Amino acid sequence: MMSTLIDSPTRLLIDGSWRDAESEAVLEVFEPATGERMATVARASPGDVDRAVEAARRAFDDARWSGVAASARGRVLAGIAAGIRHRVEELASLEARNAGKPIRDARDEVLGAAQCFEYYAGAATRIFGETIPVTAPGLDFTLREPVGVVALIVPWNFPLAIAAWKVAPALAAGNAAILKPASYTPLTALELGKIALAAGLPPGVLNVITGPGASTGSALAGHPGVDKIAFTGETATGTAILRQAAPNITRVSLELGGKSPNIVFADADLERAVENAVSSVFGNAGQDCCARTRAFVQRPVAAEFSDRVAARTRRLRLGDPLDEATEMGPLISLQQRERVEGYLQAGRQEGAQLLTGGSRPGGALAQGSYLEPAVFGRADNRMRIAREEIFGPVLAIIPFDDEADLLPMVNDTPYGLSGSLWTRDIGRALRVARAVRTGVISINSSKSVHQEAPFGGYKRSGIGRELGMHAIQLYTEVKNVFVSLD
Ligand code: NDP
Repeated sequence: MMSTLIDSPTRLLIDGSWRDAESEAVLEVFEPATGERMATVARASPGDVDRAVEAARRAFDDARWSGVAASARGRVLAGIAAGIRHRVEELASLEARNAGKPIRDARDEVLGAAQCFEYYAGAATRIFGETIPVTAPGLDFTLREPVGVVALIVPWNFPLAIAAWKVAPALAAGNAAILKPASYTPLTALELGKIALAAGLPPGVLNVITGPGASTGSALAGHPGVDKIAFTGETATGTAILRQAAPNITRVSLELGGKSPNIVFADADLERAVENAVSSVFGNAGQDCCARTRAFVQRPVAAEFSDRVAARTRRLRLGDPLDEATEMGPLISLQQRERVEGYLQAGRQEGAQLLTGGSRPGGALAQGSYLEPAVFGRADNRMRIAREEIFGPVLAIIPFDDEADLLPMVNDTPYGLSGSLWTRDIGRALRVARAVRTGVISINSSKSVHQEAPFGGYKRSGIGRELGMHAIQLYTEVKNVFVSLD
């Protein structure tokens, strides 16, 4: 495994130029596969946050972006997409090293970010209002206008992809944005800033500031100059964001945690269900809000499913994120691994049967925060491993008898983000899909995210829907205009 310090900007992107932070304090950025430092970035102070908000406010108020033709905004977004595509390998390798994700996945995510900008490049000219047949004699219509200054706060698990999900629709709608990446993974957000400038985005329309959530993030979330916050992260942080936003009545959209079900009926194509059960919980080392962490399996196939999932899990190739053959990399940090190990212990203590995994691999991987993916059989939906978001490679298999037995268990969770169900009975598939209280559900598939379709959660998994044209609602206000025809 190679480890070299990269030449990272220790500056902040504010008002179209790279500026020194007020303080010389920096954040150190590590490589989870080796534990070694790979970069240092600036630690933005509340004063730096003020400067970023002021720059965004100026950019918004003088309409240097919202005032240009939607088609011209679309062309700049297309330019950003092209800039990302031009640097796919470089960005993928940066993300793979910094987030510890397998290079093949990192490449897909970078391409996904480019596709996101391409989608919203087209969407810019499709943001429009409606004409409403009101009773009063006149013409009534709505305008969709940008919200203003938007703060975009993103997590470490899909750094560039989730930044794109927010930056692209926010800019398509004409807002001015401040992007704050997670402290573990700030590097590709800074690169996105460079790409946006090179694509011709006017100064101040996208500002990128790095720094800890507790200081930089909260200064941003509580800033009276911010009109809207779009946040992805933990449910507990989402609560803090709502509190910080409350005094200013700042608009908030939240994409939070999940505890997604994977429902396997006895008539399912078991081979596909097994393959997807493994990939949908161990992808990104389980650090995925959509991870299918609770596999509900109908009793007649529960034993066979458990054996096959355990066997496939044992064959998962852990390794260097930069190796094309690697299927699972390390967790984001040693601290995260310890947290996950606490759940492994809880699962054992509560009586679930550990079928495979849960150890720290040795040899070349001993240095990094690796953990063998773990499968628990004979779990119960009341156990902590089935209730709390672990955010690591742990699957709980829970047997069920029939739909009547299944549905209360599936919905007995504070979360409601995503899920899958596997059956050949179309009536049952649609019945269960409607009964599951999640924002996203896939039938005979584990795909949760489509660029063109809404994504988001019920219950404590969030507020609002990202992606597709639904995201435009998050970044626009509706103005009603009435014209008297008297
Ligand atoms: P966190 O909530 O810890 O952090 C997310 C972002 O918020 C980071 O940039 C963080 O900064 C910042 N932050 C932390 N505290 C505050 C605060 N008080 N005010 C403002 N900003 C703050 O989440 P993680 O980074 O640990 O990400 C993992 C979580 O994200 C999981 O729970 C996962 O389920 C969820 N997630 C949800 C998705 C969804 O779409 N529903 C998608 C992907 C992940 P810093 O890094 O400096 O702490």
